[in-house]
Amino acid sequence: MPKSDPHFQSFRKLCAQYGLAATIQRFIVYQTLAEMKNHPTADMIYERLHPEHQTVSRMSVYRILDTFSRHRIIRRLNHPGSVTHYDAFMEPHHHLICVQCGEVWDISRMEGENFHIPTGNIPDGFQVLDLTVDFQGICPNCLAES
Ligand SMILES: [Zn+2]
Ligand SMILES: [Zn+2]
Repeated sequence: MPKSDPHFQSFRKLCAQYGLAATIQRFIVYQTLAEMKNHPTADMIYERLHPEHQTVSRMSVYRILDTFSRHRIIRRLNHPGSVTHYDAFMEPHHHLICVQCGEVWDISRMEGENFHIPTGNIPDGFQVLDLTVDFQGICPNCLAES
């Protein structure tokens, strides 16, 4: 993959913004996640990129996803009873989560949506960086099966 690839160029800009080195391995992991719209797990990302990029180990995928999440280049979705899912879509949005199969859907925020956190409950100096609402329920597929 040539470094002049436009996707790599924009990835490099993204990394520079967060003070991260844009390595080829990181690029491959990022690009794979960004192409998958289904909030994949680390294993799903690994399975997807492995046939084409055998030099990227499963461990590297885990490590790189962790680095990206800590730098807030991607979102980490932790839901009780479910493995960690990842999301490269960083526009503000919420999630619909099926509690039975663990499938996650993006839903957009409502027009003019504005949450005010009761200030009394926030520890002094706490800086809110992000807000997502998880709507948990049972998806039509699981409903049909039960
Ligand atoms: Zn389901
Ligand atoms: Zn999402």
